[in-house]
Amino acid sequence: MALEFARKTKRIPTYPVAAGYSLGAEVAMLASNEAVFAPLEPVVEAARAAVLGANRYPDPGYQQLRKALSERYAIPPARIALGAGSCELILTAGEALLEPGAEVVYAWPSFSVYPHLAAATGARAIEVPLDAHARHDLDALAAEVTVATRLVLVCNPNNPTGTALSLEQIEAFLERIPAHVCVILDEAYVEFSLRVRDPLASLPLLERHPNLVILRTFSKVYGLAGLRVGYALCGSEAFRVAVDQLRQPFYLSAAAQAAAVEALRHQDEVERRVAATVAGREAMVQALNERGLWVADSDANFVWVRVADDGDDAPVVQALAERGVLVRGGGALGGPGFLRVTVGSEKDNRRFLDALA
Ligand code: PMP
Repeated sequence: MALEFARKTKRIPTYPVAAGYSLGAEVAMLASNEAVFAPLEPVVEAARAAVLGANRYPDPGYQQLRKALSERYAIPPARIALGAGSCELILTAGEALLEPGAEVVYAWPSFSVYPHLAAATGARAIEVPLDAHARHDLDALAAEVTVATRLVLVCNPNNPTGTALSLEQIEAFLERIPAHVCVILDEAYVEFSLRVRDPLASLPLLERHPNLVILRTFSKVYGLAGLRVGYALCGSEAFRVAVDQLRQPFYLSAAAQAAAVEALRHQDEVERRVAATVAGREAMVQALNERGLWVADSDANFVWVRVADDGDDAPVVQALAERGVLVRGGGALGGPGFLRVTVGSEKDNRRFLDALA
């Protein structure tokens, strides 16, 4: 007899994982928006020192990391939630806030984990199309908020399109959302944004909106995707208490905690990485535009480019893969006919452009 699983297990879509991780340095990995920069030596050293004590459980209070984030963002540690990647916080937020009869509202296409929330909880998902420039349509999103809404997700800059809205627009949107509705502002790529400019700029919004949760990650500019550390800066303690209640006590390994604390100490390196990525992005956009291709206005470490007017991006993705260049096809991400291409090293970016030609 086959195992009998819960209905939600059948409902949850399979996350469209990127391929190629077993192929090593042979391929240009431009499919997952990771950093091309290897962890700094002191970061590796901090993780190594933590591994030497791996016979003990990690600190379940996450005190050093909470303290380091609290100092950097001037937010009390009690309003900082941590997770094994910000993905874990998104999924746990769904568990904490949603249930049958409740509604979750987000733009589409946006981050491919968001559809899991309704599927996993039995809530209703309301997906609001992006505007003609592949940006969030905040008026349309606000119009979908009803008495049943528990959660709104705004991804800024948006994955997979890279487009961003100004903080003034986000603030005006927040003013329109009732105070009992949780708004997650997913800022996984905020450091790369010229529109938001400063990763500290959105923090004052938390003081005015206790229902706001700003979600960040060490997986992108901090280059620690493989260690899985994300965090949420919360307008009130309630969100942190709820997501902690729903998880095992030891969700972050000691090595991950130590590496994240050390990575935060190197803001000059963050700035260097941002400058290199923005330069790479501008060069890539220019090269694509010169070929007559439409590219969404990107504020992230990736670009969203239209490659197939008939909506069939799969042959392009396949042809690039055959040339050793891995990118994501828009078809798998809610935007058929497009490619999402990570800005990588100069060599990999060149390889992508040559292969596309
Ligand atoms: N939010 C967005 C918008 C993302 O693109 C990603 C990663 N692709 C995440 C959150 C999750 O990142 P992580 O779990 O590695 O922190």
